[in-house]
Amino acid sequence: ADLYRVEGWGSPYFSINARGNVAIRPKGSEDGSDELDLLELIQAVRKRNVELPMILRFPDIVQHRMAQLQGCFDTAIGKYGYQGHFQGVFPVKCNHDRYLIEDIVEYGRNFRFGLEAGSKPELLIAIANLRENDDALLVCNGYKDEIYMESVLLARQLGTNAVIVLEQVDELPLLLHVSRKLDVRPVIGVRAKLSTKHDGHWGGTSGDKGKFGLTIPEIVKVVYTLREEGMLDCLQLLHYHVGSQVADIAIIKEAMREGSHLYCELATMGAAMGYIDVGGGLGIDYDGTKGNRSGASTNYSMQNYANDVVAALLDACVVKGVRQPVIASESGRALASHSAVLVFDVLNDSENAESDALRNLAVLEEHHAAGLGSIQQGWPPKQDGLATNGLQPARRDPGQYLLSTFYQVFATIDQTNFQEAFNDSKQFKQEAANLFKLGCLSLEQRAQAESLHTAICHRVLAYARNEPQMPAELSALSEAMASVYHVNLSVFRSAVDTWAIDQLFPIMPLQRLSEEPTTMATLADLTCDSDGKITRFIGPDSTPSSVLPVHELRQGEAYYLGMFLGGVYQEVMGSLHNLFGGLNVVHIRAKPKPGRAAGGYAIEHVVKGQTMEEVLRTVQYEGEDMMESLRNEAEEAVDEGRLTLEDASALLMNFNRSLKSYTYLKSRSQ
Ligand code: PLP
Repeated sequence: ADLYRVEGWGSPYFSINARGNVAIRPKGSEDGSDELDLLELIQAVRKRNVELPMILRFPDIVQHRMAQLQGCFDTAIGKYGYQGHFQGVFPVKCNHDRYLIEDIVEYGRNFRFGLEAGSKPELLIAIANLRENDDALLVCNGYKDEIYMESVLLARQLGTNAVIVLEQVDELPLLLHVSRKLDVRPVIGVRAKLSTKHDGHWGGTSGDKGKFGLTIPEIVKVVYTLREEGMLDCLQLLHYHVGSQVADIAIIKEAMREGSHLYCELATMGAAMGYIDVGGGLGIDYDGTKGNRSGASTNYSMQNYANDVVAALLDACVVKGVRQPVIASESGRALASHSAVLVFDVLNDSENAESDALRNLAVLEEHHAAGLGSIQQGWPPKQDGLATNGLQPARRDPGQYLLSTFYQVFATIDQTNFQEAFNDSKQFKQEAANLFKLGCLSLEQRAQAESLHTAICHRVLAYARNEPQMPAELSALSEAMASVYHVNLSVFRSAVDTWAIDQLFPIMPLQRLSEEPTTMATLADLTCDSDGKITRFIGPDSTPSSVLPVHELRQGEAYYLGMFLGGVYQEVMGSLHNLFGGLNVVHIRAKPKPGRAAGGYAIEHVVKGQTMEEVLRTVQYEGEDMMESLRNEAEEAVDEGRLTLEDASALLMNFNRSLKSYTYLKSRSQ
């Protein structure tokens, strides 16, 4: 059952239960008192008319992660005797969901947890949420104009602990101007470009040439300017961010050494200082390998991370005799990734299994026994005009000859000759195509040849898998022969990083996990785009596999797949490719139910996904206008007798119903 390595990436939240379904413990409990069966949950949600695909969001998981992060820092601070505390901020860009952010702020009150904004709209979200929180930080990053700065300074007047972080040199004169205009003294941070660089996908923000932050000479100039303005007391925070999903703890250590000394130097130069904000980067284990360095995993734990941050800072502060600052971090991925499960169903599969190929052959023979003859009985091939005197060459029916020889390859394949059989099969398939082009093979004969090739390839693979090492050519065949499961989903909308940066997410069936999966599949989405597919999954070893082990679909039974750890970045970065819209989102909280030992929950919010009308509006179509022009056309058609009145009204009703409905397909079944 650990084909999907659930324990590795999912613990303590996800596991497989005795019924063979994925189970979830939103509070991460050890005793399972909060355990829910994901399949039951989906069925219960669907009974409430929430259609697939959907995102199930578990706010308890975010809380658990926040408490864990705080706990790790508290432990590290206690262990090293550090003279400051930790207070995190959640980067709003990671997931803008209103209920999620409200929940983070509400729960975060217990430990001064704040927000980070990276744009003007995010600033509005943060200001609206943090107003009453005294100590919680509002870290204001990103490009800023005058109105951005004014909003921050006014929010400060309101009582929000807002810090303007300078990311560009020309932000300082603007800030000084706004500060004078409003007569408000800002709390200022500087974002530093560290020389420490992280090489993963998400490392573009780091290093001297990173897109964001001030270089060391620029930071020194900021200090001089503020000194001249008599505002060194305003400079209180140093921020840096070496990139997201840092796989190797060595990068964190290195950045912390550089950042800690930079912090201390700023304090020594007379800046008031008080906070260090170490950015995001705390990674998670997407493939459950606990440390392969592909970027899909990390070689450190959250505690290890906290220890290294605190230790480096303490060391620099002691050496330089600087007061130990409040430590902030901007972890988003590590806090919210686990909290969302993307649930989608399989609509159908391609006819690509061996059984499909054999069935096709049988059907072809049955339908055309007379015309084609049975290829199985066509051996040895009949020869027309048999040679009688050694002078006249033998002639064969090329199609019949090819097919019966091809069939022999299939019938005699075994462990000793599978590679040879594969080579022959490729050649015969090509010859069948050539004969077809010359008009010597009928369409049905060509179908027989192709079905034979498919059946042979499956057998070849079965034998190849018994070998200690799969021949190189045949590993590519494994992907080519995989079934294609068509899923009710747009990759571009809901799993964009699988396409954009080849990111690996854990994807697995949510049921039948006590049954051996018998099929290898790739996933194809609903879009008309050849990139709309997923071919990267957790593999049997630390390298990703191009195929996902799945079960054969059963007639009339929904087959659910889940994509896990996608709780950050995916939803908001998704696009409307082919006009597949936003998904239904259901917020579920674990809640003990009287009389039940485990498994109580409450559905707190159902946020309906976009309807076709809403999606069409984003590209300037108004449903009402579309209805109106269709109505006019239908009237005309009825007048001219091209359409009955009943058909016209059915057409209009259908159109109208579509406008109000979800952009995805109806599921195969309940
Ligand atoms: N802070 C900044 C400035 C970022 O650019 C990012 C994302 O890259 C984050 C925080 C969040 O990082 P992570 O999701 O790795 O925690």
